[in-house]
Amino acid sequence: MSTVRGGEVAAGRSSLRGGGVAASIPLLGNDSEPTIFELSANQRSSCSFRTTGIEDYPLDKFIPKKHLREDEVQLPQVSERDLVAHFTRLTHRQYSVDLGAYPLGSCTMKYNPKLCDYVANMPSFANIHPGAPSSAIQGWLEVLVRLEEILCEVTGMYCATLQPAAGAAGELTGLLLMRAFHDSNGDKRTHIIIPDSAHGTNPASVTLGGYLVTTVPTDSRGCVDVSSVKKVAGSNIAGIMLTNPNTLGIFEEEIVEIAQLIHGCGGLLYYDGANFNAIMGKVRPGDMGFDIVHLNLHKTFATPHGGGGPGAGPVVVSKRLAKFLPGPRPVRIADRERSFVKTNSKPEHSHSSQVYGWEMPESSIGRVHSWHGNSLVLARALAYILYNGSDGLKHASEMAVLNANWLRKRLSNNYDVAFDRTCMHELVLTLTKFKKDFGVRAIDLAKRLMELGFHAPTIYFPLIVDEALMIEPTETESLQTLESLAGALDQIAEEAREVGASSKFHEYPSTTPVGRVDEALAARQLIPTYDAKH
Ligand SMILES: *Cc1c(COP(=O)(O)O)cnc(C)c1O
Repeated sequence: MSTVRGGEVAAGRSSLRGGGVAASIPLLGNDSEPTIFELSANQRSSCSFRTTGIEDYPLDKFIPKKHLREDEVQLPQVSERDLVAHFTRLTHRQYSVDLGAYPLGSCTMKYNPKLCDYVANMPSFANIHPGAPSSAIQGWLEVLVRLEEILCEVTGMYCATLQPAAGAAGELTGLLLMRAFHDSNGDKRTHIIIPDSAHGTNPASVTLGGYLVTTVPTDSRGCVDVSSVKKVAGSNIAGIMLTNPNTLGIFEEEIVEIAQLIHGCGGLLYYDGANFNAIMGKVRPGDMGFDIVHLNLHKTFATPHGGGGPGAGPVVVSKRLAKFLPGPRPVRIADRERSFVKTNSKPEHSHSSQVYGWEMPESSIGRVHSWHGNSLVLARALAYILYNGSDGLKHASEMAVLNANWLRKRLSNNYDVAFDRTCMHELVLTLTKFKKDFGVRAIDLAKRLMELGFHAPTIYFPLIVDEALMIEPTETESLQTLESLAGALDQIAEEAREVGASSKFHEYPSTTPVGRVDEALAARQLIPTYDAKH
């Protein structure tokens, strides 16, 4: 349609103007939900325009004709009522954090308090224009400054940036900070040490940051092999990236020795704090000797994780790295005088009553995100922190660790725990025996668990554990939920013994809307083939 019609939108009105044959609406419980295109009926729409007598404006008055489409755009034509029903039916087929437990490992909190949603939706936050002058958004700047201060406090670090959009973005930021630091000393270093248990984003970020990876192995107790670190620590090492507790859920007890080794050769220590809820209020990376830390607000601080929504991966650093941080940074103006970061830009504030403003760190690596970062995620995090208080955060960590250890003990009758010792927020099972004895693999178990009403745990990670099943119960699940999860896992172990040898286990899930999919197809066949009849 190449005209803009004068008139009003009558939202929600179904105007059936005849023609077209839509797919029939499925009965409840029927799995074959049509696509929105199949539901489409010619000329049906969810809004119509009243005739007002105002003239139509030809679009080519505003947009050059060559940019205008000639054919009607092929959008689905459905009434608002059918549109709502279609998506509501689809959401009912979906497992979600609001529906039940999510034992996914390396993901930290999955259920997020509703209070944080409320805060993120407050119009006074949600409606702020990112380009608004600082004089108009003093309250918002206070949120940013207070969040930075608290994140520094819980990590034992000096100064922060809230810009990075996710964990991996925080890692890259951290590596660019390492580079800026070494460059400023005229120090050319080439390699970053990473343990073989690390999250896949670590080596990827190293490569993106222009460094090379030196891998160190895990020892028999599930910790970084310190003698290997000793061997590789040298003048080519820019730093080490560590996750502590590591992805096996085990605390790196030799961390102080590792820190001394790395600092001793002139390198820096990077802390992957994606799963920070194991240690909040207990130990601090700053006290362990780390120089750079990233936190995943979408794992530890009340933003839903996954599902395509925005996250945030703030980076906190020690004093000697502060001047390289991304900017502009939100600051309390009164602090500027004693600021670690000498500003090289004119302060933006003009009113003397203004308390907060922006400043650019002296040797900033520049922006890593536009405007204020993923700002509402930041509001959520502050709400969560203030809601809990320092006692509450500490309690959350204690409960997360207690729940994981309860499950570890409870499951050990039927399952082998990789590196079976006191764990932190998560535990890793290995199904090597199930595979050997019954032909049942981690993926088979995960699919079966979905049929029993749970989300699947993380599988095949960390890579160093054969047939790995990584379970993180989190602090929010009750004893009853943990008991029923353990009960479901016991049931699966029994079934594996009884029917495992038959192929039944390889066909699960059969009661979910989508059955067993070909795990590799999406990677091999990049161009989808759409089968309208499927
Ligand atoms: C999730 C995770 C990351 C990556 O975070 P993203 O926000 O997904 O980029 C890095 N390290 C660890 C240990 C993680 O669990």
